[in-house]
Amino acid sequence: MIKLTKITKSFGRNRVLNGIDLTVEKGEVVAILGPSGSGKTTLLRCINYLEKPNDGEISIDDFIVNCRNPAKKDIHALRRKTAMVFQNYNLFRHKTALENVMEGLVIVKKISRDEARKLSIELLEKVGLGNKLSSYPSQLSGGQQQRVGIARALALNPEVILFDEPTSALDPELVGEVLAVIRKIAKEGITMIIVTHEMGFAQDVANHVVFMDEGVIVEEGHPKHIFNSPKEERTKQFLARIT
Ligand code: ADP
Repeated sequence: MIKLTKITKSFGRNRVLNGIDLTVEKGEVVAILGPSGSGKTTLLRCINYLEKPNDGEISIDDFIVNCRNPAKKDIHALRRKTAMVFQNYNLFRHKTALENVMEGLVIVKKISRDEARKLSIELLEKVGLGNKLSSYPSQLSGGQQQRVGIARALALNPEVILFDEPTSALDPELVGEVLAVIRKIAKEGITMIIVTHEMGFAQDVANHVVFMDEGVIVEEGHPKHIFNSPKEERTKQFLARIT
């Protein structure tokens, strides 16, 4: 359903992605693991063109973006099929939780305010924030802000939700509530790609684990295989260091 072909990306002379091929099936939960600086976040940001790849192809369903020569309308279409959950939540500071979720529905999806409000309330209830509709981000904990971020991504009804280290900015005691929400929506069959350092979470929520190092996919497969019997030396070393 999502297919990346030979994606490359450099920042100046620094080649950060070096020919990434990745196929993600509908409903899969993909965890991208790897050492810091290996290109995980850049790859995620390339999928929705927050970073522009230098070369390669991105296809979602039967729709293809040629990264060397993309048309503006293709980039817009790609963005409409994806939603991103950011490390630092990226909420509008001057809008309430409810308004943050409604925004994309009204502006991007062109849904009436009444309908957008109804749907946004449902989504905020789903992430456990039915009692925080009128709170501003500054009045919410990091975990609650991230759950607003997740509700906002769900509101766009994307083909895939991209999570960029969704719990790495959180105090340890708030990580669990965010992972619980991600776990819940994973069960609903939404396709998700998650860059994460939470190995336990990757192990039990993902059904496809991708291990990256130095801009390439070193190894990928079912979490059972990657965690219990990795084939590649680099994967073994990484897992030995962090688990
Ligand atoms: P990871 O998510 O695995 O930690 P990143 O994708 O964030 O890795 O970064 C990979 C490399 O790309 C790093 O060397 C980083 O410094 C570099 N990089 C990332 N974003 C930029 C940018 N906007 N400009 C220049 N270099 C960048």
